[in-house]
Amino acid sequence: MTQVQTARGPLDSCELGRVLVHEHVFCMDMEYTLNYRRDFDEEEQIAEAARRLEDLKRHGVDTIMDLTVLGLGRNVPRIAEVAKRTQVNIIVATGCYTFDELPKQLAYRGPGLMFDEPDPLPDLFVRDIQEGVNRTNIRAGLLKCAIDWPGLKSGVERVLRAVGQANVRTGAPISVHTSARHGTGLEAQRVLKEEGVDLCDVIIGHSGDSTDLDYLMRVADEGSILGMDRFGMNETLPLADRVATIVELVKRGYGDRLTLSHDCWCWSDFFPTEAHRAARFPELSYCYVPLTALPAMREAGLSDREIDAMQIDNPRRHFEDAARRFAAR
Ligand SMILES: [Zn+2]
Repeated sequence: MTQVQTARGPLDSCELGRVLVHEHVFCMDMEYTLNYRRDFDEEEQIAEAARRLEDLKRHGVDTIMDLTVLGLGRNVPRIAEVAKRTQVNIIVATGCYTFDELPKQLAYRGPGLMFDEPDPLPDLFVRDIQEGVNRTNIRAGLLKCAIDWPGLKSGVERVLRAVGQANVRTGAPISVHTSARHGTGLEAQRVLKEEGVDLCDVIIGHSGDSTDLDYLMRVADEGSILGMDRFGMNETLPLADRVATIVELVKRGYGDRLTLSHDCWCWSDFFPTEAHRAARFPELSYCYVPLTALPAMREAGLSDREIDAMQIDNPRRHFEDAARRFAAR
């Protein structure tokens, strides 16, 4: 048993239940939304988010990992408001989401930069994990970084190394946004390993966008968990392909390295209107896994035990094993 930090406070890992490992609640550029999105009413959207999460609870999901970090519109007090109104546990993350540069507030600070000082990133992340996010007493439960098609740009490398260092200092597990089609999961693993991270502490996110079994097995053979986490984004990869890939991985003995999710959100300004979202990803919703993906997996021959491993045991172990390895260091 391990204590896992959520937006409502600490929780025993055995109480996590069924977990979606990569979701969002609000994704936005705060400045853009405040200036140009007249349709964003904070109170309304908090109520709507809580309503959607309660719906998810009714469909059997107990916990989501909200991977909305710096660069995606992170607002932990707003998440805390949602958490008060739903039974779903929300685990918040710390880290930074960028495909190239760092936000201006951090880009000029660090060794050899305008403000020549030790890189401030690891300390910011560690404080979120150990003390709480800014003036809240809500602590981040895990670390998040990203490496997409542009590869290891300088800002990306700084975040990856800082996340690795914060993992070594705190034992908090890591989730990485990767581009499976560009094989960036392997690059993330290489950099994190250089920082001393045990790759078993890492979920390689968006692995589920790929059907390349050789690539997926290479990532999993390093010990990391695969995030099969974009269910409902059928325009990126159809459901049948996502399911067939999972079935084959389970058959090959990787059932203990798979996790499920949607990468969904309640409100995002990446889409000008809800109609744009519906046109791009008509089926995407928080409930697509329980309502559509799980029945498809059962139909394809997966047992309830194999599904429970992906939804319950593997996410739980993600926290427990990282804590145990940290304690043993
Ligand atoms: Zn995401």
